[in-house]
Amino acid sequence: MKSRRLSAPPVLAVAAACFLLLLTAAAQPNRLVAHRIARGVWFLPGDASKGYCNNIVIEMRDYLIVVDANYPGRARELVAQIHQLSPKPVLFVFDTHAHRDHAYGNIVWTQAGATTFAYQGVADEMDRYEPRRWLDTAAQRQDVRSLHLADAPRPQLLFRQSPFILRDSTREVRFYFFGWAHTRGDGFVWLPRERILCTGDAAVNGPRNKLWDANLANWPLVLEQAIALQPRFVLPGHGDAGGLEILTGQKTFLSDLYAAVQEQVRAGTPLARIHLTLPARDSNWIPRDLTGDTDAAYAEITRHQPAGALPHEWK
Ligand SMILES: [Zn+2]
Repeated sequence: MKSRRLSAPPVLAVAAACFLLLLTAAAQPNRLVAHRIARGVWFLPGDASKGYCNNIVIEMRDYLIVVDANYPGRARELVAQIHQLSPKPVLFVFDTHAHRDHAYGNIVWTQAGATTFAYQGVADEMDRYEPRRWLDTAAQRQDVRSLHLADAPRPQLLFRQSPFILRDSTREVRFYFFGWAHTRGDGFVWLPRERILCTGDAAVNGPRNKLWDANLANWPLVLEQAIALQPRFVLPGHGDAGGLEILTGQKTFLSDLYAAVQEQVRAGTPLARIHLTLPARDSNWIPRDLTGDTDAAYAEITRHQPAGALPHEWK
């Protein structure tokens, strides 16, 4: 008893100190982590541990454009913190594609006064796959569940003619659709004067590709059109910002993957026995486990249809 009584005060003191530290930390205003790419253009890295994608903020004369709605949790953070970059209101939020980590925050932005928009193919993908994916995600994630919705909120405005252009006295921003790559609705954002390209998941930096909604044969052709723009800065949906090497590396990885699987298919190797060794130049994009990528490429090649056109589960 004696020893317990003696040890209790230091433990209490440490606990109290920790509590005070926590209170102090909570009282600090949340600082928005943003890398300035050019005047009025910021790259906001997404916290991968929470599944967040990257965001880009583009300042126009009177308003802001945000690239990707992100998950609702990140959208709420950005709505609260974006004034740290600029006092102008967010007028437009562009969904690069229909995936949950890019578009499920749509309603958070519209409730904050913004208009969400996308290429027509984004809404088509949602009509194709929702509300199934929304409901599955709501079962897993509190930030999606907390919205109490039965379906994914669609982007409010859609364009069919590429490029769609927003322009004022300070800047021109072009929204391109180059074809079916990562999804049927991949949008690119291009700032011609600053030579900045935002790619969504059509180009990621690192082993972060998801191939199940893709058209693997066409994807490199889409990236060729992006490469033809000759961007100075490439801002991907996941991974660090960089330059043209993100586009060329992503294209080479996808081409090498497709060619390697095709070679095995031609040799008559059954899927279960395919073990790929991709060239060292692809190392930045090669995941620890290539099984899922191999499965998607194999399905596309052997069934003569884009992987995304075949029945599949989102993985
Ligand atoms: Zn995606």
